[in-house]
Order: sequence, then C-alpha cells, then structure tokens
Amino acid sequence: MSRKTVIFCDFDGTAAEQEVIVSLFQAFGPPGWEAVRDAIIAGTMSVREGVGGIFARIPSSRVPEMIEHARRIATLRLGFMEFLDYCRVHGHRFLLTSGGVDFFIYPILDGLLSRDQIYCNGSDCSGPTVRILWSHACDGQCRADCGMCKPSIMRRFPPEQYHRVVVGDGVTDLQAAKLADLVVARDLLVVKCREVGISYQPFETFYDVMAVLDRMGAEAYR
Ligand SMILES: [Mg+2]
Ligand SMILES: [Zn+2]
Repeated sequence: MSRKTVIFCDFDGTAAEQEVIVSLFQAFGPPGWEAVRDAIIAGTMSVREGVGGIFARIPSSRVPEMIEHARRIATLRLGFMEFLDYCRVHGHRFLLTSGGVDFFIYPILDGLLSRDQIYCNGSDCSGPTVRILWSHACDGQCRADCGMCKPSIMRRFPPEQYHRVVVGDGVTDLQAAKLADLVVARDLLVVKCREVGISYQPFETFYDVMAVLDRMGAEAYR
C-alpha cells in the first residue's frame, strides 16, 4: 500500500521570506530581548521559556500594531501559493508547522490555508501582557521544551502510513528533519544537516520544492 505524503512546512524564513517573529521582537520586544535570542541559539534556554518570556513583557495593547507590522513586512516565498495548489492536485497533505504565534500567522495566511492545517502557538491577549498558549507542547519523547514541538506533531503521522517531508530553514527544524523521509532545506538547516549527516535537497523557492517532490516522489512510491 502506498504511503500518503504529508508536508511539514516551516513559516519564518520558509513559507515567509522574512523572520517575522524576529522583526516583531526588533520592533516591539522589551530591552534585552537579544540576550534571550542568543541564549536560545546557544541552547542554554529553551524556545518555550525564551519566546514566552519575551512576549510576557510586551503589552497586550500592542497586539493590533504587531499584526499590522507582520502583515506589512511579510511576503510569501516565491511559488508558495502554487505549491499549495500542487499539494492539492497531488493529494499531498500540507501542514504549516511554526514556532510563531497565531495572532500574526493567521492573518498572513488568511484564505490560503484552513486553520486545521496550521500548527503554531496560541495566545491570550486578555491580560496586561501577551501570554503564549503552548497548544502543541512536547510529547513524552521530546525533552527539548520546544514550545511548538514539530517532532511531536510528526509522530502523529506514523512512517508506515506516511511519507514525511520537512521543508525548513532553521535550527528548530533539525529535530523534525531527523524524523523525515525527505528534507528540503535552505539556510541554517543546510548547515545543520551537513553537520549531523542528514541528507537533504536544497531549495530557494517553492518551485524548487515542487521539482524535488517530482523527482523524489517517484522513488518514494516505488
Ligand atoms: Mg524558520
Ligand atoms: Zn519538543
């Protein structure tokens, strides 16, 4: 029986050209947020703790401005919309998996994806500052304290039934890449894949991703 293809696609720096969350922190983050970012990159602070801590110091009253900012600066990577059509035509399941937050991701993807295709963090802006809701936290098999745990989501799609494709650009995509049948990578994820010896296919636009799937798809279903 052939396996169904499911695509796990990152948002910042992948579906979106920009690092939208970084741009938001640059514009709205509290003083010292850069130190938190550095600690996350160095691995001395978890993404959940770091990102949650930064948002917890941003007033909820600024959320409308943040949404406006995100919509203004974000552009979808070349071929992204065509790729969504491609997935529909080929019967691939497309899931957006992002460590970002619903209040800025939903408006950018409005009309392109249904909510059940988007896995990101939730938010509660009813208090004085932004509280992140970790709706997709790590399962019992992940100890990385991801916040939005990509490997945990992938484990819901067993490899016996699904051909799992990860499309991403960053360090936070590495654990997902380790579980994938096929990794399509750009930027830092390329560096990381090389470091740990995971094979990958490079991409810059979603036309590249389609070409990879056309090429690799035939092998996967053999
Ligand atoms: Mg990314
Ligand atoms: Zn995790």
